[in-house]
Amino acid sequence: MTFIPYSRQQIDADDIRAVTRVLRSDWLTQGPGVKVFEDALCKYTGAKYAVAVANGTAALHLACLAAGFKKGDEVIVPANTFAATANAVLYTGTKPVFADIDVSTGNIDVKSLESRITSKTRGIIPVDYSGIPCDWAKLARLAAKKKLILIDDASHALGASYKVGQRWYKIGSCAHASMTTFSFHPLKSITTGEGGAILTNRKDLFEALMMLRTHGINADKKMVCLGFNYRITDIQCALGLSQLKKLDRFVAARLRVNQHYRKHFRGNPYLDLLQIPNGAASSHHLFPILLKNPSATPAVFEQLRTKGLGVQRHYLPVYMHPFYRGLGYKGSYAPKAEEFYRREISIPIFPGLSVSQQRFVIKTVRDVIKKGKKGTGPF
Ligand SMILES: *Cc1c(COP(=O)(O)O)cnc(C)c1O
Repeated sequence: MTFIPYSRQQIDADDIRAVTRVLRSDWLTQGPGVKVFEDALCKYTGAKYAVAVANGTAALHLACLAAGFKKGDEVIVPANTFAATANAVLYTGTKPVFADIDVSTGNIDVKSLESRITSKTRGIIPVDYSGIPCDWAKLARLAAKKKLILIDDASHALGASYKVGQRWYKIGSCAHASMTTFSFHPLKSITTGEGGAILTNRKDLFEALMMLRTHGINADKKMVCLGFNYRITDIQCALGLSQLKKLDRFVAARLRVNQHYRKHFRGNPYLDLLQIPNGAASSHHLFPILLKNPSATPAVFEQLRTKGLGVQRHYLPVYMHPFYRGLGYKGSYAPKAEEFYRREISIPIFPGLSVSQQRFVIKTVRDVIKKGKKGTGPF
């Protein structure tokens, strides 16, 4: 039986050529390829500075350090995210505080976010869940009013854009966030194997990030703060550069899958789909379906897996992980994120998903969820 994962990298002959060229060169790491990739990320997003690092989690960690988050501070993150968003806050000794979400997008709810702000709050790290941009203009106004550092965890959203007034901005432009982080894990928009980057328009943050990436050593070879080895290799950057050239094609292919699914699932009585707001162009990292009957989700999930669909759940609210419960996060901080999780299943979406595979996904999902009457049967 074939197994269709929920996401998958696309590697072509030109990617392989780009990597082998580096393998034959003098520089496997700390060579010229890192800056070339960083410059290409700046050019694509419109940001002034890029710092490529070992992975998306390292990018978040360095962003939190450069922001100056420290013990005694609080940083607000959405409950509906991968644990790494909150973990990066914890790495700096800072307390993550969880905000609830807007169920129509899965993104942070600005009202809930506002209600979490205290005198200790220093920053906010919204996530462009599934690739749908958050309301960055609104978030930037709130951050400015409350003097908070705004970091975009755009691990899902490289290739997405949003409109403010008459202008479109790429996610990563840092027109509204102080810093934006990306992940280049194979399941994300483009891949370097493992990899990540931080983008910013602020020179002070850029300089801090560069130093922190290499042990806290400055341009004079003096170690002036406690940094890390979070470098990325030239091998990875060659792959990243080659992938970046195809990013718009990857996003267009994901959009086609999204549209095909929407055409067939729209009006289905058993599920809801995310709503992409006006003025937002998603990167379509995920295609979540939200079952109307949450008690059916575990069984539907298991059956889809049995039938060969590599479905996933995005996400168990971070504070519900045993580790966070153990830290003392015992409450129900984000009831909508909990409800969202109870209903959510991510079905396969990636550039190489063929039309016949898409048809198989649609048919399988429909067949599995329509067994039983709406609200009465198991599904
Ligand atoms: C993938 C991901 C990360 C972490 O990226 P890695 O490159 O795997 O370290 C962080 N936040 C979110 C929302 C992600 O999806």
